[in-house]
Amino acid sequence: MALACATTTVTEPDLALRPETPRKPQPAERSWDDPLAELTRIVGRENAERGDELLALFRERGLAPQVQEFRTEATERSPSQVGRNLIVTIGDGPRDIVVGAHYDAIRLRDGTVSGGAVDNGAASVVLTRAAQTLAGRQLRHRVRVVLFDLEEIGLRGSSAYIVSEGDGRIAAMVNADVIAGDGTLMYGPTSHEGNDAVYRSLRVACTATGVSCMEFPRYPPSDDRSFQAAGIPNVSIGMNETVAAHQMWLVLNGGAESGLESGFMPAVFRVIHTPEDTMQHANETAMRRLHDLIVALVLELDKTLE
Ligand SMILES: [Zn+2]
Repeated sequence: MALACATTTVTEPDLALRPETPRKPQPAERSWDDPLAELTRIVGRENAERGDELLALFRERGLAPQVQEFRTEATERSPSQVGRNLIVTIGDGPRDIVVGAHYDAIRLRDGTVSGGAVDNGAASVVLTRAAQTLAGRQLRHRVRVVLFDLEEIGLRGSSAYIVSEGDGRIAAMVNADVIAGDGTLMYGPTSHEGNDAVYRSLRVACTATGVSCMEFPRYPPSDDRSFQAAGIPNVSIGMNETVAAHQMWLVLNGGAESGLESGFMPAVFRVIHTPEDTMQHANETAMRRLHDLIVALVLELDKTLE
């Protein structure tokens, strides 16, 4: 009775009357009209055309990209090729934070190129947008947004970049590769040494943006490995649906006790490096979330790194 009395006489907490907590301004969400339309411009195209479209996208955003041309050594598997890294430089600090994604799509056995939507057109488009956002900020470091070429034939673009820039100037590198779905940001490999400060900043950025992040001791190789080999602190990130991210963790880190059926293959591995890597697997929310996370991470690195 007392309880009933209390419930009838006590008015509801006046939550509805309280002023709303002001939302942090999110200019990118407001003004980035159509990430998928931008991605459509490069998906299914040859790598040279992908590069041209991304250069155009940078310019449409008011940025002035530079092109670093390089020639690869011929190997048994591939002849010598000319590649192009696309570089936007923001600010003029004494040390660099490099944010990279490879924009080349893998060439399939039949000679055509993969659509390269998930791997790695989506992150490439996101970086053009992140560069635009960061260009308006006061930064202690120089930020280099680099879209690497020829990752798929052996990290060639990032290797060429390191040769030209790896003189101690680079304070940290963030690599984004494979945006397969929304839900969880995957990052790693934490088994590599020397990256504690970068990982700490990443966790701060995950918290600040509300992005759910999952640490991978072992993580698939990408251009981050060129920087790791040069002793430059780095992290590689990707996005996937949450269950798929857990499955990937178990496949890569779970060993014999992973609980997965033998031969289990996460869906993303049946999409990338196949003709299926098309717009149907692109995810706009993941692209927007990745943008916000990368901006927050770069700002945190800029604040905390020497
Ligand atoms: Zn990739």
